[in-house]
Amino acid sequence: MPVIITTVAALRAACSAARSEGRSVGLVPTMGYLHDGHRSLMRAARAECDFVVTTIFVNPLQFGPTEDLDRYPRDLEGDIAACRDEGVDAVFAPTVLELYPQYPPATTVHVAGLTDALCGSSRPGHFDGVTTIVAKLFSIAGPCRAYFGRKDAQQLAVITRMAADLDLAVDVIGCPLVREHDGLARSSRNAYLDPHQREVAPAIFAALRAGVDAVRAGARSARALEAIVTERLAAHPELRVEYAEVRDAATIAPIERLEGQVLLAVAVFCGSTRLIDNVALRVSGESVDADLGIGWNS
Ligand code: AMP
Repeated sequence: MPVIITTVAALRAACSAARSEGRSVGLVPTMGYLHDGHRSLMRAARAECDFVVTTIFVNPLQFGPTEDLDRYPRDLEGDIAACRDEGVDAVFAPTVLELYPQYPPATTVHVAGLTDALCGSSRPGHFDGVTTIVAKLFSIAGPCRAYFGRKDAQQLAVITRMAADLDLAVDVIGCPLVREHDGLARSSRNAYLDPHQREVAPAIFAALRAGVDAVRAGARSARALEAIVTERLAAHPELRVEYAEVRDAATIAPIERLEGQVLLAVAVFCGSTRLIDNVALRVSGESVDADLGIGWNS
């Protein structure tokens, strides 16, 4: 069984103790309600690190005032069982008061530029909430390898940039996007979908794949690619597109033509549930390499 840690001091002590024994620390930050996507991060951490910590904290700072903080799904017992199954050494499950004795904190971390677009434009303050809690977790855990999913590609880019800018003693590791068998990206928020919405939701990945097919067939215009994906999504009356955009994968800057590391990312409402998904493309002249994620039946 993993040891359950609820205080900042105890997590700091456990990670320091591991390092002083010469053991490397692997950190897997999550908001809980763990699924196969989270498990894949824990598995990667388990394979590469000696002392693996999964953190479970629904961070209020990254939710907007009208968002789903109060109804965000939670299942600490199930999460601890999942961590046990993945051989995790410690679960950090603090209260809000423990991590934010004064709420909201006066000090936050803002990564400029990368947070302006995509999810940043529709969720003001969201990424400041993410980078602030992740910086706190990095500070508490100390030098470590930290595992994040490419499901949240913009978040991964933002955290990678934060760690570089602030010289944080953390190796930020990106892990593959894990899908359901029908292609829907795994997400704790999939629990909000009713059976009909759940049937429709794989159309999001299908639209991304249609975009990838177009790129493989020679399309190189970012705007044209966005139009293809948007049109595919718009064919489903149950879906409402918030964005379907092509960006530079590392800087999240807009691009005109597809070349290099490119992110094709979407945010789509299925009913009132906001789902995000993406594919990463490496385009070099004629050659196209698409990262469609893992776990789905191709
Ligand atoms: P969350 O609990 O949604 O905040 O996610 C915690 C971590 O798990 C983040 O690094 C996410 O990118 C990652 N994650 C969530 N869903 C997936 C998925 N389907 N595939 C890979 N990683 C994921």
